[in-house]
Amino acid sequence: MATYQLLDGKRCGDALRAEIAKGALEVRSGRGRGPHLAAVLVGNDGASRTYVEAKVKACEEVGFRSSLITLPETTTEDDLLHRVKQLNKDKELDGFIVQLPLPEHIDADKVTLAITPDKDVDGFHPENIGRMVLGLPGFLPATPSGIVELLRHYHVETAGKHCVVIGRSHIVGTPMSILMSRNAYPGNCTVTLAHSRTKDLPTLTRQADILIAALGKPEFVTADMVKDGAVVVDVGIHRIADAARKSGFRLVGDVKFDEVAPKCSWIAPVPGGVGPMTITSLLLNTLKACQR
Ligand code: NAD
Repeated sequence: MATYQLLDGKRCGDALRAEIAKGALEVRSGRGRGPHLAAVLVGNDGASRTYVEAKVKACEEVGFRSSLITLPETTTEDDLLHRVKQLNKDKELDGFIVQLPLPEHIDADKVTLAITPDKDVDGFHPENIGRMVLGLPGFLPATPSGIVELLRHYHVETAGKHCVVIGRSHIVGTPMSILMSRNAYPGNCTVTLAHSRTKDLPTLTRQADILIAALGKPEFVTADMVKDGAVVVDVGIHRIADAARKSGFRLVGDVKFDEVAPKCSWIAPVPGGVGPMTITSLLLNTLKACQR
């Protein structure tokens, strides 16, 4: 049994945000205005509103300007694409995000493609994904890039390690597998990307020196799936009803923390692991956009 240490995303995020705030001040004194991020929220999804508000609040804390654009559920795809075009041209704006998921009648891929890659601070545009694959400068997708920064902050060794990523979404699993296999630090891993059609997942996960769980199933990864001394990064976020809490719920990840943590060398908890790092990466991308 290993003695585990926490990959503390709150602490690491706070350290990075202090640097970002300094960067924002420098840009403001150099060019007369600081970084400006806009977030577009379509519809009434409660979780999306919470995420967007957290992003706007984080902007204020590091001295960025932020604009929250809320559009009704009935917004048409054409209306949203028109709004995206306006934001692309807005010279007072360095970057913007359109919060996903979008209402069903809007094609999210069309919207992602319409955002100019120069302002795509979520890093979802195919041009930025291509740049990431080729190791060219661009915007990295926020969650995988936050995980990379977390591993870097705690000097976690990655070269030559076997990294198993569970989940192949375009925003988390797939880019994560690319970043962990690139010739850089953190990276240089031998990567296995597992997904819903993977056979005998526990046999694979037990071989992982670094296990990144991003499948979106509450407490799916159990102790028997984890090798002794592994580094475990839990990306999932789920609200579980809990009558003992004032809020009526508690947050859990894709990993059964209590039984898995004692086997780990390092583990990123939920909450307080990947979540704060995702927002920090968005701030970092916005600062970069402004410095360009
Ligand atoms: P998604 O649903 O788009 O993708 C899930 C992936 O997991 C799919 O590729 C699927 O093939 C795979 N999968 C599903 N069941 C599996 C199984 N039994 N075995 C192996 N693979 C399986 O999800 P996503 O958008 O990538 O998000 C994953 C989780 O991370 C969610 O809980 C989400 O809320 C969370 N998330 C957290 C942050 C953060 O900032 N902390 C950011 C993004 C997503």
